[in-house]
Amino acid sequence: MTRFIFITGGVVSSLGKGLSAAALGALLQARGFKVRLRKLDPYLNVDPGTMSPYQHGEVYVTDDGAETDLDLGHYERFTGVAARRSDSVTTGRIYSTVIGRERRGEYLGATVQVIPHVTDAIKEFIQADLDGDEDFVLSEIGGTVGDIESLPFLEAIRQLGNELGRERTLFVHLTLVPYIPSAGELKTKPTQHSVKELLGLGIQPDILLCRSDRPIPEGQRKKIALFCNVRESRVIPALDVDTIYDVPNAYHLQGFDREVCNHFGITQAEPQLARWSEIVGRIRRPEGEITIAVVGKYTHLLDSYKSLAEALTHGGIANQVKVNLDWLDSEIFEQDDTVHHLEAVHGILVPGGFGERGAEGKIQAARFARERGVPYFGICFGMQMAVIEAARNLAGLGGAGSTEFGPCEHPVVGLMTEWTRGNTLEKRRAGGDLGGTMRLGAYTAVLAAGSRVGEIYGAAEISERHRHRYEVNIHYKGRLEDAGLVFSGMSPDGELPEIVELPGHPWFIGVQYHPELKSKPFEPHPLFTAFIKAALDQSRLV
Ligand code: GLN
Repeated sequence: MTRFIFITGGVVSSLGKGLSAAALGALLQARGFKVRLRKLDPYLNVDPGTMSPYQHGEVYVTDDGAETDLDLGHYERFTGVAARRSDSVTTGRIYSTVIGRERRGEYLGATVQVIPHVTDAIKEFIQADLDGDEDFVLSEIGGTVGDIESLPFLEAIRQLGNELGRERTLFVHLTLVPYIPSAGELKTKPTQHSVKELLGLGIQPDILLCRSDRPIPEGQRKKIALFCNVRESRVIPALDVDTIYDVPNAYHLQGFDREVCNHFGITQAEPQLARWSEIVGRIRRPEGEITIAVVGKYTHLLDSYKSLAEALTHGGIANQVKVNLDWLDSEIFEQDDTVHHLEAVHGILVPGGFGERGAEGKIQAARFARERGVPYFGICFGMQMAVIEAARNLAGLGGAGSTEFGPCEHPVVGLMTEWTRGNTLEKRRAGGDLGGTMRLGAYTAVLAAGSRVGEIYGAAEISERHRHRYEVNIHYKGRLEDAGLVFSGMSPDGELPEIVELPGHPWFIGVQYHPELKSKPFEPHPLFTAFIKAALDQSRLV
């Protein structure tokens, strides 16, 4: 029997609902249950693919090519369950489904309304595309209770609660219990108000998860329980922790998963949490420390690089070192003599990015890494910039560039349509609107025998996730190879360069895909493990 858990948030945004859902998923999994996690976002965009990273943070891409909310990254990292397109839905998608049905006459002349038509579509989504053997489906409702946008979602989960009954549904509400210095006290009123708001919508939360920066005294817990009509044991303190990977353990100690099981009348052995403790131990007791410069554009909104930062942490876990990240805006390298910012770092990473602004700075960073023998990891845009740098400074193609920035003499990076027509990939890219026009999702790459990546992956074929429009231009392969760049990963048809590397350099790899999306704390991505190892070797040199 599949049970449905709904996670809502109150008081303020950014309380970490996504992490809470992911951690509960991990706890239930550690008790031997099969879980699936889903995100319902109230905004009108059909997906976050067209949203600026400044607005929305990272766009997390699934194997099946969906552009989704970054919370799906947390779910996948915490549970290891690969997210799917059907695990993410927005108001925009719900409405386009409903309007599509209306245009096709599927409502048989009815007046189409939020209740029941929109709420029905939401309920359908929550229960759609399941394997059938899931024990728990956790659905996180984006936004904060009280927002106009989230009302249809809350109404839909209220209805589901009624239809499936208490034995199959559970409502968790995440709130904030702030400390007010002038009163010297933690305050429960915001939580009371938030629960009142939920009650007004017909939802009585079963469990309250209370975020706080310090322990919540007994008295305050009792008060929350009394005023919010929740059992005291179900007022769960969610205190700040030093690493997100300690959240499952911290929740377990407060009885969160026990109360979830009690609600459903499930008696189950204690969860196996040893592997979580092991990870946290490795993070807390590093045997060294290194610094990686991340040279990007969205460096003042670190949510834009969520998976990347986690993958670097995982590489640190694998090598048992602390990884310090030096976030540098690439534009600074466009002034003279600024590369000295990179002098003290042990590795340079240029992540994914879009547009011309800051691109020359990234090319400078790649050049610095290549010339100084500093480990370099170029991801997507970071690979493209490394190829432009090699073209200009190794292959002597002074006018090398990317057509993303306009026409150039040597388009070493460009759109495939500029040099091929009608191949299978182009057909796979949806046309028409801006959404989904990129190469998205999992693609296979074939690794060259004897290459560094072949050794790192220990495989001849890999599958990784993509999100980009431009490609390294196959017509320049020969000239770049003559200059020393090795094309060590190619698409199976040999048309698309997927990986480049520089032999003779301590560690210089560029990949067209996003390996950070598949890295997990228990399964650090091999490229991140190897990159951190190379940086560690570098730190012993300097
Ligand atoms: N802007 C580049 C492209 O579209 C790189 C995209 C990325 O780094 N994700 O190909």
